[in-house]
Amino acid sequence: MSAIAPGGSLSPAPVLPSVGELDRALRDASPGEVVAAALKVVGREQLAVVSSFGTESAALLKVVADVDPAIPVVFLDTGWLFEETLAYRDTLIATLGLTDVRSITPLEETLTREDPDRDLWFSNPDACCRIRKVEPLARALKPFAAWINGRKRFQGGVRAEIPVVEDDGARLKFNPFANVSRDDIKAIFARAKLPQHPLQASGFLSVGCMPCTSRAAEGEDERAGRWRGRAKTECGIHTMKIS
Ligand code: SF4
Repeated sequence: MSAIAPGGSLSPAPVLPSVGELDRALRDASPGEVVAAALKVVGREQLAVVSSFGTESAALLKVVADVDPAIPVVFLDTGWLFEETLAYRDTLIATLGLTDVRSITPLEETLTREDPDRDLWFSNPDACCRIRKVEPLARALKPFAAWINGRKRFQGGVRAEIPVVEDDGARLKFNPFANVSRDDIKAIFARAKLPQHPLQASGFLSVGCMPCTSRAAEGEDERAGRWRGRAKTECGIHTMKIS
């Protein structure tokens, strides 16, 4: 099997250890050790980080930058993001010295066909997430053999049981923050003096797209402000296999 390298050339796909083997080996590893292991297993050309540049994203990006700031970072710009998130992306690129952040947008033809009035988020949020997040991510991850993301078990719901390494269909998925606590994340922010997301100070504990994000009330779960009033809790990029 071969894969298309970012430059467009064909590069041989690495022979990967089994998911179970990797997960057992990294079960108690620190986030930095997990990122370094992912890099060693697949190589920089085949590894991507996926980040929303949300309220906690800087912690994972700091860990990644300490291992290798040239690891590609995929950012899904859905067309519905807050200006503050776009500005925060640029701040973190400069602060952490990230050299390969790729902002991925949905295809114009898909938006014109499936969401001409930009109201799909209201009538069918699953379909909206599919065309604005899941499909663009599948395209962006085509050249890669593995990806890293920032989910934590303490976030609860379907995230409560995530392993450190899992099978995502066509590729490996590393969850270096599976084991971390809220305090661990606060400590990474404090130690590195990382800037906060600009909306955090005004009560947004988790930030996604504008129409589907609201402030969390005192004592509410940090993701309570996402898709408020609906049964939906995930956009789909972590609940389906990305082929
Ligand atoms: S989070 Fe909301 S606006 Fe963003 S892609 Fe999903 S449904 Fe659409």
